Amino acid sequence: MTPRKPVYKRILLKVSGEGLMGRQGYGIDRRMLIEYSREISDVHRMGVEIAIVLGGGNIFRGVSEAAKDIDRVSADYMGMLATVINSLALQNALESVGVFTRVMTAIEMHEVAEPYIRRRAIRHLEKGRIVIFAAGTGNPYFTTDTAAALRAVEIRAEVILKATRVDGVFSADPLKNPDARMFREITYMETIRKRLKVMDSTALSMCMDNDIPIVVFNFMKRGNLKKLVSGHRIGTLVRGD
Ligand code: UDP
Repeated sequence: MTPRKPVYKRILLKVSGEGLMGRQGYGIDRRMLIEYSREISDVHRMGVEIAIVLGGGNIFRGVSEAAKDIDRVSADYMGMLATVINSLALQNALESVGVFTRVMTAIEMHEVAEPYIRRRAIRHLEKGRIVIFAAGTGNPYFTTDTAAALRAVEIRAEVILKATRVDGVFSADPLKNPDARMFREITYMETIRKRLKVMDSTALSMCMDNDIPIVVFNFMKRGNLKKLVSGHRIGTLVRGD
């Protein structure tokens, strides 16, 4: 069977910190990273340019219980640094499956990674390197979903693929409510109005204003990323009217 041609040329994949911790409930599960890396490398081999934004919630979140006695700005910087730890771990896993990568950080730390420079990021993508954007937006009071939206707009990604542990966007939490219904498609405005937790409102409005579709999909199911990039209708498409 001839492999399908990819429907996207350049994608931005967002994986939350929780997605990296596997079943252990904290930190980084190396097996998980290797699995993700294989899925990502399959899509890379199709010729798709891939940028990645990772969350930091598996290590530290500025708005979490663990951060309650720390001032918000410091806590947020700690969260941003957590995304750098995750990014280095994913870089290592991706390189162990033979993919060239670059980590670019929104907070300069030359010994660790390249600083984020938009033109350079695009050049890396054109040369077939996977670029991992770390340290969020570099600003407190934001999330890595907003960083994903911002970078996607900047590098002109055609879509944000938001990796989750459920099949898409549901009317209620499917892990708690058996009657929850999954949406095949939904508009940005509806997700905001219905308070569905797709992304925070800053990230969503960035996507809406710049017309970047988001596909929420289950990254725990093998082959899903490749199916998506091959044009299969899986997950939930979040788009404009
Ligand atoms: N963060 C920030 N600015 C950014 C991105 C992230 O301050 O531009 C901090 C914030 O404290 C956040 C933490 O980093 O709670 C981890 O990011 P996020 O909660 O988005 O990770 P995820 O939920 O995707 O694991």
